[in-house]
Parts: sequence; C-alpha cells; structure tokens
Amino acid sequence: MDVDHTAEELASALGVTKQEVKADLEALLEFDVPLDEAAQSVRRKHGGASGSSPAPEPLSISDITTEHGSVTVTARVLTQGTRTIRYQGDDQTIREGTLADGTGTISYTAWQDFGFEAGDSLVVGNAGVREWDGHPELNLGQSTTVSMADETVEVDQPVGGDSDLIDLAPGDRGRNVEVNVQDVDSRTIDGRDGETTILSGVLADETARLPFTDWDPHPDIKGGASLRIEDVYIREFRGSPSVNLSEFSTVTPLDGTVTVADSAPRLSIAEAVDNGGLFDVEVVGNVLEVRDGSGLIERCPECGRVVQNGQCRTHGAVEGEDDLRIKAIVDDGTDSVTAIIGTDLTEEIYGGDIADAKAAAREAMDKEVVADAIREELVGGAYRVRGSLSVDEYGANLNVDEFEAATEEPVDRARAVLAEVRP
Ligand SMILES: [Zn+2]
Repeated sequence: MDVDHTAEELASALGVTKQEVKADLEALLEFDVPLDEAAQSVRRKHGGASGSSPAPEPLSISDITTEHGSVTVTARVLTQGTRTIRYQGDDQTIREGTLADGTGTISYTAWQDFGFEAGDSLVVGNAGVREWDGHPELNLGQSTTVSMADETVEVDQPVGGDSDLIDLAPGDRGRNVEVNVQDVDSRTIDGRDGETTILSGVLADETARLPFTDWDPHPDIKGGASLRIEDVYIREFRGSPSVNLSEFSTVTPLDGTVTVADSAPRLSIAEAVDNGGLFDVEVVGNVLEVRDGSGLIERCPECGRVVQNGQCRTHGAVEGEDDLRIKAIVDDGTDSVTAIIGTDLTEEIYGGDIADAKAAAREAMDKEVVADAIREELVGGAYRVRGSLSVDEYGANLNVDEFEAATEEPVDRARAVLAEVRP
C-alpha cells in the first residue's frame, strides 16, 4: 500500500482530486504519522466517514450515479477476472468484473482479494464510486467491507462469465470461452520487462472467430486444439474485440471438438462500419472502383509498406520487392468500404502471377496495364467479400480473406449508385 494508491482510493471515495488528497497525506507523513492513520485524518477532513463510521445507505445499482462518493449495495457477482497491473512502478493484482442486482449491473475493481467468487451474493459496504467513460464504477478498497448476503440476489443476467465469442465486447473481464484454436503464432515482443514471448492467433466457436493474445503462453494452446479457457479479458484490437489470456487464465483441453462457424455474419456495409470494426464479417456489394496503388506494386523489404518512387516512408531509399494487390471500393448502397485484396487472391482475379504481371508491364512499358486489366475484370460486378473490417479516421478497410462473384442479386440501391458513376 503506497501513498499514491491510498491517495487514489481516498480521492475516489471522497470525490476530491488525487493531488489534493496526496498533498494532505504527504504533509502528515512528514510528521511520521502512519499511512493508515493519515488516511483516516484526510478522510475526516474531507467529510468522509472514518473507517469505523456506519456505511453509507444501501442503494440499488440503477440508483448509483457518479455523484455518489461511496455506496453500499447488495449484489450478485456476475463475473470476476484477475489481472496484474503496473501501478506506480509496482505490480499489483486486481480483481475486476461485473456486479448485478434486480435493477441493473455495474463494473467493479477490487484492489485487494476479498475472497468472493462469481455467483456469490454480497453486501458491499462503503465502495467508492468513480467515473469511467461517463458511467459509475465501484472501487473496492481498504475502507470497503464485503460480507455474504443472507439471501441469493436474483438477477436477469447470466452468472459466471461463460460466453459465446459473438457476445464478447471490449472491457469484458473474467469471461470463460470454449473454443477451437484456428491459428497460433509465437513471437517475441519488447514488453515492459524486456523481451518476452507471447502467442497470438485466432479462436473460433459456433458463433464467431476472434483474434487472441496469450501474454503468458499456455502449453495447451496449439493449432486445432479444442479448449475451455477461463478468466480471459477482452480488449479492442484494430476495431474488433480480442481475447486476452494472462497468467491467471486457465486452459483445459476438452474431450470433444468445438464446432466452428463456417461462415461469417452477413451484414450491410453500413451496419458493419457502424460497429466500428469486425474481425470476421461478410458483405455483398458492387465494385465501384479499383483505386490507385492496385496491381503491380513494390513493397519495402524491411516493413512491407508500399514503396513509392523507390522511397519507403520509414526506411527511405530501398530496393522494393514486387507484389500484387488490389484496393477496391465495394458499395452495397448503404455504405462503402475499401476491400484490400492480397497477393494470392489478386493473382486469381488477375489470372496470372507476379512474373506474368511484370512481363505484361514490361511489354506495355507501363505498370498500370496490370491495374487496368483488374479494373476490366472487377468494376461493375457484384461480389461476396469476407474479411476483417477496421475503421479509422481515413475510412473503412476490409482485409479480404474470401472474394467471389455474388450468386445473389446486388441490392437495388447499389445498382442505382453504380448507374450514376458508370452511365
Ligand atoms: Zn520500410
């Protein structure tokens, strides 16, 4: 327990700034007052209840606002995840998840181990309220009391954290999944403690596919393995949820094989883009345009970025390596995305490999003939496109895994759009 941490908790519980609390604490510590006692003094100074005073009036979860300094709630633990965070230079193990009662749910962070588990019904006394992203959250710290409730708290939400991949969202904690490992790679990164090895790849169940990172590699994570993984947390990765495993996650091989979705969810482009990003999605639309930078291109051998006039933006003058790719604008009448098609699919669409493309470019003395041939092939056609969608300030990009002529009619409005741009 250090000054910073105590100041943070007090500030949260008392509704004053951390700087103010910390200054008060440090003034007292100057006189060799023990930290605990200093905390009580600061609490009294700011009108908070001292540790021995009665806890605040009980509230329903839906009545908790960011205006409350601290609250008492009777609630069910829906989920509990364990994580180590680096806090002011020290590793600290925290527990976080969601509490619920009959009126709603609220996220919590427990700064010490109170010994409760998902499914427990608790009376949580004197929990600090802090604001996160405009919503109240509970901080369970040294002045919080936790005891078992006399009766089970009935809730509408599922208890325990078992989740389908499709239902996971960034910010979820303490979730359990049953998945098949579709793809896994090991790589070395520069972590906060120097070089460390992590695993990353793709997990799938019957509902979806999601990327994952295992920050503390578990030996059972192997390609093709069907696993139950407990205590994962979800972060956003390139606009889509990603599953994260830590040293606290447990991995258990399953007897059977987890059934895997063989198709991606089909969405309109507007729905997909509104989502902010999707790891695996399918759209059907018309190719309106094949953009500049398609066809025969050169990539930096160092970083793989496209080289223009022999210059990489990061590595300066480089000897570029030839590649084929397509950047196609796909529109379904609701919105458009830039579909980015890699080497293999581009070769199929072009009907030749990189050597063929170079030969054609040499003959015409113009690289653009390759892009032109691709334009001829694609523009105006309707395609089913599956891939990973990311959305940023420059627009929506769909990194294509599957690209094929649509067997169904393109939506009428998309045709109307096409008539406008290609009269
Ligand atoms: Zn480069």
